[in-house]
Amino acid sequence: MKTFRYRLYPSGTQRRLLESTVETCRRLYNDCLAERKEAWETEKRNVRKVEQLRRVKAVKAANRYAAGVHSHVLQVAVADLDRAFRSFFRRVKAGEKPGYPRFKGRDRFDSFGLKEYRKGWKVDGKRLRLFGIGRVAVRWHRSLEGVPKTLRVRRTAGGWYACVTCETAPAPLPATGREVGIDVGLSSLVATSDGETIGHPRWYRREQARLRVLQRRVARREKGGANRGKAVRVVARHALHVANQRKDFLAKIAHSLVERYDLIALEDLRIPNMVKNRHLAKSIMDSGWGYFRTHLAHKAVEAGRVVILVDPAYTSQTCSACGNRFPEHIGLSIRHVSCSCGLSLDRDINAARNILRAGRARWEPTSALAGVSREAAPLQRQRSVTPQHGRQACQRGPLFVPHEFEPEDRLQGPRHVHQDVAHVVGHHHGREADRPFISPMKPGP
Ligand SMILES: [Zn+2]
Repeated sequence: MKTFRYRLYPSGTQRRLLESTVETCRRLYNDCLAERKEAWETEKRNVRKVEQLRRVKAVKAANRYAAGVHSHVLQVAVADLDRAFRSFFRRVKAGEKPGYPRFKGRDRFDSFGLKEYRKGWKVDGKRLRLFGIGRVAVRWHRSLEGVPKTLRVRRTAGGWYACVTCETAPAPLPATGREVGIDVGLSSLVATSDGETIGHPRWYRREQARLRVLQRRVARREKGGANRGKAVRVVARHALHVANQRKDFLAKIAHSLVERYDLIALEDLRIPNMVKNRHLAKSIMDSGWGYFRTHLAHKAVEAGRVVILVDPAYTSQTCSACGNRFPEHIGLSIRHVSCSCGLSLDRDINAARNILRAGRARWEPTSALAGVSREAAPLQRQRSVTPQHGRQACQRGPLFVPHEFEPEDRLQGPRHVHQDVAHVVGHHHGREADRPFISPMKPGP
């Protein structure tokens, strides 16, 4: 599955129809939520998705706005709510802070979906034909690949976008026999075990500064005033621009890694932890890490590569050559490490090597379990560097998690990365086991 995102250029009328479709979905969403809430409060009963789906027809008959909307659009809104409930139940079960699904205000609801090609939408010449809306102009900046399946139409920072999810055949890349560990660095953005470093892009600080200027402009303007509204929209557009630039930059890094390496080991960084860390928070990764990881996994699935997450503990405190823990603490200010065994290396590259080693250690038992032989270059396996507690933590959780996926999730489009994935190789620490990372099977020799 691959998602393609295109900018839409609706006419004035089409724009109003798009707005109205989103609004109709929002109301249906809120109505369905109210129904579920009430059923639970009065009868302690869970309303099921099928019950609500069955009523879509009646809603269409009773409401003139809903009548003009394709039934799939309404069904997808019901399914969206159902998904919100399922993740709520999952969080309750996992003992996380649950957060009951919320009623959505106008500014909290910005998309609608269609779940089948030629049912309410299709590519029509150079335009996108949407049921009840018309033939909308599209900027096809790249061509669609594969078989189109689902569509999400989304309003972002005042613009309209179509996200088309297509079923694509995986196109495995030839094996390179090379493996890499990636460290999210301090002085550089990422450092690899091969000694490569990628710095922060030049535009990053500049754009951040510009964003701050724009945000201050909003702060100076009167609340509720028209000028403030304008300034808010300028900020939103600029933020979107920066986000796109960042995505593009990270996507290129991911692409280059997938092209060159069979196995990519990453730290299993927990994003909230990173943001707390002031040094890293300034880095581009504070908002890009999740995207980078997901995108890398996507690309890896397509190319038949393996991505493995490892416990980040002690990766910078350990010598990558002899496996000894450094006697003194390697603080954030130390850029270079040296060891009594003769190692002398950039701290981030040293960490990246430890990450690669831990990744290999995790991959080998996993691939042996799956009956996949390893044809990659043998390693001198010294004493494992993986910190003891990390190993034990890994063994607590299942090494090999069967992939569970409900078929209806396939309708939900781009948010689900996991669908064509054969197996999961995750790093498990405590509750984190519930969000394992995904890796494809390595292709046989
Ligand atoms: Zn050493």
